Amino acid sequence: MSETDQALDRLHEYLRESAVLQTCRGLLNWDQETYMPEGSAELRGRQLALLSGIAHRRSAADQLGDLLEDAEEKLNGADPESPAASNVREAKRDFVQARKIPAELVEEHAEVTTLARRAWAQARADNDYPHFQPWLRRIVKLSRRFADALGYEEHAYDALLDQYEPHAKTSEVRALFEVVSAKLADLLARIVDSGRKIDTSSLHGQFDPASQHAFAQEVTSAIGFDFARGRLDRAVHPFCTGLGPWDVRITTRFNEKWFPDGLFSALHEAGHGLYEQGLAGEQFGWPMGSACSLGIHESQSRLWENTVGRSRGFWTHFYPKAQANFSSLKNVPMDQFYAAINEVKPSMIRVDADEVTYNLHVMLRFELEQALLTGDIDAKDLPEAWNTRFEEIFRIRPQNDTEGCLQDIHWSAGLFGYFATYTLGNVYSAQLYEKAQQDLGDLDEQFAKGEFAPLRTWLNEKIHWQGRRFAPTRLIERVTGRPPAPEPLIASLEAKYGAIYGV
Ligand SMILES: [Zn+2]
Repeated sequence: MSETDQALDRLHEYLRESAVLQTCRGLLNWDQETYMPEGSAELRGRQLALLSGIAHRRSAADQLGDLLEDAEEKLNGADPESPAASNVREAKRDFVQARKIPAELVEEHAEVTTLARRAWAQARADNDYPHFQPWLRRIVKLSRRFADALGYEEHAYDALLDQYEPHAKTSEVRALFEVVSAKLADLLARIVDSGRKIDTSSLHGQFDPASQHAFAQEVTSAIGFDFARGRLDRAVHPFCTGLGPWDVRITTRFNEKWFPDGLFSALHEAGHGLYEQGLAGEQFGWPMGSACSLGIHESQSRLWENTVGRSRGFWTHFYPKAQANFSSLKNVPMDQFYAAINEVKPSMIRVDADEVTYNLHVMLRFELEQALLTGDIDAKDLPEAWNTRFEEIFRIRPQNDTEGCLQDIHWSAGLFGYFATYTLGNVYSAQLYEKAQQDLGDLDEQFAKGEFAPLRTWLNEKIHWQGRRFAPTRLIERVTGRPPAPEPLIASLEAKYGAIYGV
């Protein structure tokens, strides 16, 4: 074995152990959200805090610094985009970032966000924003300290965004979002003004949760989620936990009276799950064995949930099965069902939003969290700022803060900079899908025949196996031939909803 390979092996061994530690934390988190008895909450908190502390120390340890230096030296002159050089480059990036953040800031952040999440849940339940306000103020300050510790050139928000979407710049994301929001606001106005009402009564009724679970399992299995290497369970807030490609846990929730919730959440999480199951096993521990960014992750979930899961081809294949499983769908024509699952309607809540309005919800948060961070908006003025801007965008006004600025958990959890990745995911998703169509032919026709493997293996090869080899925008450019652009998303939504609403 060459000296280079030996140096890489030593580094990989260290990183693999850190990754195993992360899977332990992941499994405890999954259990906490699914099966853990309430009585174990305090112990679970201690278990997670202990593992987090060990993980943080390992990620910033001198020993790791030495291993990285050695590997870098041996790789001197290698192609910077080769798998080995990419792995070392990204591992170094993680190390440098971990070293920049003082341990006491990590601990304070963990403590404050734990208490803030509780205050937020209470405030949301009681519609009592003032109860949460002092916590939000503390979290904004903490987020600024994080940004200062990490460093940035243009905007403090850059440092936070970079945590979720490596190398993304606020100014570039803003420019992209301005085009998306202007075009979607225009499409939404035409849809609303068309006065066309879609009959969604078929989606309301009695849908037995056990049957929904079985159906969700059948559908996610058909698109390629491997149940020999994964599970589907129930959780209040659906999520996906990847413990390496050999064990991926997805969750959903079932609403007995409303069909779309359970199935589309399961499809969304299965999209995340296919990404995790598609990661290269031999790269486990290396950056190339983990997901590129949250935006790329979300591109996979939104692609399977919406582009595939709300398409005519998909339901040509699955609708007869749905009708066989759920008696309330028996006499509903396919066209009526298809229109119902694609209804566009301004609403207060982001997680319930359709494909057209969803990104407008994200824009609002993207604008407001930057304003909070720069001090342009004070925490006490958030509800007024939220409601005013919301009304400008949607032409409806939240009647209380629970359906306004208290609806999302993110800020209470300290996740500033996170929301942007949702819309980036939609932009990437549309661009990838456009390219997949060019490479693979008429995908809708394939879905109608129950063929999902061509699209899935295309994504395996182009996205999943690459891990973190390339920065997100570079990955999109390599796969599609151009940097992320808003046109494919706008064009696909215009075509689909133009047809449904006749606008
Ligand atoms: Zn997601």
